[in-house]
Amino acid sequence: MTECLFCKIARKEIPSALVYEDEHLLAFKDIFPQAPVHLLIIPKAHCESLGDLTTETATAAARIPQVAARLAADHGLQTSGWRLLSNNGPDAGQTVFHLHFHLLGGKPLGGKLCQ
Ligand code: AMP
Ligand code: ZN
Repeated sequence: MTECLFCKIARKEIPSALVYEDEHLLAFKDIFPQAPVHLLIIPKAHCESLGDLTTETATAAARIPQVAARLAADHGLQTSGWRLLSNNGPDAGQTVFHLHFHLLGGKPLGGKLCQ
C-alpha cells in the first residue's frame, strides 16, 4: 500500500524520530505527543488494524508488548508506569490505518478511557 503514511515511514521515505527498529517492527515518536513520552510501535508490513492481522503481521505484533516494555524502561518509565493502546476503527478514533500501538507515559495518564 504505497500511499500509507506509516508504510512510507517504515520504508524511510518520510522522516521520523526513530527510537527502535528490528526486522519486523519500528517505533518512533508521535508527531503530536499527548504525554512526555509518546511513541508509536508498528509492524513494518502493512496491516490496517487488529481486525486485519495476517500470519505475518500477527507474529510481528505479538512482540509489541515486549518491545514496549523495553522502550518504557529505556525512557525511565519502569517505576512510574506507562500505557500501551491501539485504536481500531472509527469509534476508537483511529486516524492512521496502519496498525500501531501508542506507548504513553511520563505523567499521570488519567482514566482508562480518553473521554
Ligand atoms: P490514531 O489516532 O490512533 O490512528 O493515531 C495516529 C497517530 O499518528 C496520532 O497520534 C498522530 O499524532 C500520529 N502521527 C500522524 N502522522 C505522524 C507522523 N508523520 N509521524 C509521527 N506520528 C504521526
Ligand atoms: Zn501501511
